[in-house]
Amino acid sequence: MGTLLKAGQRAQLEADLLQRRAQIETRLAEHRGGLTRAERAQELLEQESDNAPERENELGLDMAIIDIEARELAAVKLALARLRDGEYGICVDCDGRIPFGRLQVEPWALRCVKCEGAREAAAR
Ligand SMILES: [Zn+2]
Repeated sequence: MGTLLKAGQRAQLEADLLQRRAQIETRLAEHRGGLTRAERAQELLEQESDNAPERENELGLDMAIIDIEARELAAVKLALARLRDGEYGICVDCDGRIPFGRLQVEPWALRCVKCEGAREAAAR
């Protein structure tokens, strides 16, 4: 079992989460802007249908990236909400402490290593 997070560790993880949130929000805004440009380009390309399949692939890729980033952002926001509520670093499944070392790698982690492993095994 891990130990309770020290105030300094908590502050470090919070700073990390806030930084990640800002980064993801910036990237999302860029991709959404890019998508708008791509959509406009597609309208122009509709007359020249030779290039349309390629354009559709690019749009699909943009959508996939936006999807992944939106999910990351949701996880980071949830972690920040848990920090405010004093639930941060506590496993949602077993109420055990999530070790600081794990949170350093994955600051949005909701489960301890054991429960995350069990969940992944169940999903297979
Ligand atoms: Zn657990």
